[in-house]
Amino acid sequence: MNSLLLVGGRVIDPANGFDAPADLLIEEGRIATVGPDAARQAGTQIERLDVRGLVVCPGLIDLHVHLREPGETAKESIATGTAAAARGGFTSVVCMPNTSPAIDNSGTVALIRERADRSGVVNVFITGTITKGIAGEELAPIGSLKRAGVVAITDDGHCVQNNELMRRALEYARMFDLPVMDHCQDYSLVSDGVVHEGYWSAALGLRGWPAAGEEMIVARNIQLAELTGARVHCQHLSAAGSVRLIREAKRRGVPVSGEACPHHFVLTDAAIAGSEKFWANDGKGVFGCGEDQSDKPAWPAYDTTFKMNPPLRSAHDREAIIEGIVDGTLEILGSDHAPHCDYEKDVEFDYAPFGVTGLETEFSLSLMQLFHSRRLGLSELITKFTIAPARLLRLNRGTLSIGADADVTVFDPDREWVFGKEPSASKSLNSPFYGWRLKGKAIATIVNGTTVWREQN
Ligand SMILES: [Zn+2]
Repeated sequence: MNSLLLVGGRVIDPANGFDAPADLLIEEGRIATVGPDAARQAGTQIERLDVRGLVVCPGLIDLHVHLREPGETAKESIATGTAAAARGGFTSVVCMPNTSPAIDNSGTVALIRERADRSGVVNVFITGTITKGIAGEELAPIGSLKRAGVVAITDDGHCVQNNELMRRALEYARMFDLPVMDHCQDYSLVSDGVVHEGYWSAALGLRGWPAAGEEMIVARNIQLAELTGARVHCQHLSAAGSVRLIREAKRRGVPVSGEACPHHFVLTDAAIAGSEKFWANDGKGVFGCGEDQSDKPAWPAYDTTFKMNPPLRSAHDREAIIEGIVDGTLEILGSDHAPHCDYEKDVEFDYAPFGVTGLETEFSLSLMQLFHSRRLGLSELITKFTIAPARLLRLNRGTLSIGADADVTVFDPDREWVFGKEPSASKSLNSPFYGWRLKGKAIATIVNGTTVWREQN
């Protein structure tokens, strides 16, 4: 059981500096052999998967996912969210604690662990909150959350505004060797902004969310990481200034890291003015979308599937995010998969909740915008979805080392496909990328030696 031989693929394992054609043998849920001996070592009875022409890499990890269970299972559940992850090529997800109730005590961690073991399709790693009820007022029991098994703490969706409280959180987190992940948003500056503050917010008459509202907290986090020595991870960065701050801090050895999401490095705020304006202005910055206006997806102005937090920013910010990814300043990629029901998004732009789904498109969009555009090598891209998040969260994942748990992703970097609503596994449909022609696709997702999803055709 849980044994499989992958024959003839290009195996890329950045953690071991391996990139070569090789067979990969999985025995009893663990990596047994990589290389020419694999086929010989495998018994004749073993299941074989022909992966010629495909890439075989460590199972992808998404460290920023909202599974919405418990409390909001109309939007998503552990079963449907992890099924969407498997379709996207992800063998592990890290779920955010802004559920209802919030994951701010060991009992809720145990509840999610039990449900994930029962209905999860892929590995689920759990984060706890920084503050009780994500209210930003009183610290959550960080030591007891750690003992219950959380891999990090975060108030994601919210941001601790009180700097003294954040300092104490970092001191506790350091004692328990937990990274602190932060959604960077200064409430007084951002106020009730709904889109990036700039040309399009003015042109469209929507309230602005200035880039400084993010940069201010990134700067705060750097100072507090320096003061406390705790590891701080800045989530879903959107602004050029944030990249600059983190780049400079890392150079000085501050234990800070940064994350980018595909919607921020593919789209810009011009998308909120509708597809015509987007393709005419910033669309040329999307890989594969050049001069030809035909065959491009269309959407109206004020489409709420383009509303997320932090918001889509300018073309300048998008380029800075890509530069940060390429030069290693932003070492981790994630989706910020944030499902919402149709009826919640089907309202005026101001009233719609922030958030987009992303598990099924993030790897393809990353391949297009970073690899196919020749900005980043395949191994470097895989690093940002495997060993980099595994190192930050100290997960025993992200490599194909002999003896490791056999989490493996098989993908075709060149497969072209159109993302549609029909085959989606997520309960929610709030993706801005329906109808988009994408390049690169997961073909098989293997968790602990078991194929949990496979492309049928
Ligand atoms: Zn967030």
